[in-house]
Amino acid sequence: MPLPPLPVDLACPPLDPNPGVQVEVVTTAFVHDDWRRVVDDGTEGPVAMPVLVGILRHPQATVLVDAGLGVHSRDGSYPGFPLSALGDIEVPEGQAIVERLAAPPDLVLMTHLHYDHVGGLLDLPGVPVWTTEDDWLVYGGGNLGFPRSMRQVPDWRPQPLRAGAASQVLGRPALDVLGDGSTWYLSLPGHTPGAAAVLVRAEDGPWLFIGDTAWVDKHLGTARRPPLTRAVIDAEPRAARESLEWARWLKASCPELRVIAGHEPAHAPGLRSAPGG
Ligand SMILES: [Zn+2]
Repeated sequence: MPLPPLPVDLACPPLDPNPGVQVEVVTTAFVHDDWRRVVDDGTEGPVAMPVLVGILRHPQATVLVDAGLGVHSRDGSYPGFPLSALGDIEVPEGQAIVERLAAPPDLVLMTHLHYDHVGGLLDLPGVPVWTTEDDWLVYGGGNLGFPRSMRQVPDWRPQPLRAGAASQVLGRPALDVLGDGSTWYLSLPGHTPGAAAVLVRAEDGPWLFIGDTAWVDKHLGTARRPPLTRAVIDAEPRAARESLEWARWLKASCPELRVIAGHEPAHAPGLRSAPGG
C-alpha cells in the first residue's frame, strides 16, 4: 500500500543557534548481536549495538534523552528473565548515566519505554521523567521490562502528546520542553504506540533524536529491520513505516541536522557539540 505523501509544509528546522545549549551522545552499554537480525540488506557478522543516551546541557537545566542501561544491568538484576536472555548485555564500568554525571539530571525525556532505554532510571530516584500518555497506557502498568521498581523510583510525568493537545513542529504534535523553543518533544509513533522524538536546537545547530524508529544509520538509508525482527519489535507497523519515512526525509533533505538513531555504532564512544561551532 502506498504511503501518504509527506506534509507539503515540512521544512528543515531553523539553524539559528541557542547560545549555551550543547548536546553530547554517550554510550551507556552494549548489546552484542548479529547484523542479520538488525538490517535486511544481506549484511552479516557480529555487531556491538551501543545503548545511546543524549545529554543536553542548557543554561537552565541538564536534560537526558533516554536513560540507557545502568548499574542494575551490570549486576544482572535488571532486566529479569527471559528479557535478560535476549541479548548479551555489557555495561562498562563508569559508563552508566549515574556514573557520568556529577549531579542527577533535571529531567529525562523518553523516546519510548523499552527496557534498554529505561534501565538507567533505576539509578535516578525522584528525577522527573517525561513519557507520552500513549506509551504510559501500554507500558506503565508493568511488564517484564517495567517492574514495580521502575514505576516507583523516578517521578513519571506522562504528557498529552497528540494532535490538538500540542503545538506542531516538523509537521508533528510537539511540546516546548523548557519554554524557550530550544528543546521539543515530538510525537513519532509506531515503534511503540506513543513513541517520541526530541529536537534540540543547540548552539552548533539542530539535533534530532528519533529513538528506535531507526536503530542504525543504515535504516535511514534503504535498509530496514528484517521482517521477523519488525514483527517482534514494532508495535504498529504502518505508523512505524510512516515515522521512518519522515526521519529519512529529514536526514536526506537537511544536511545540517544530526539525526541520531537509537543504537548507531558510529556514535560509540561518543559525539558532542563542537565548542563554538
Ligand atoms: Zn525500542
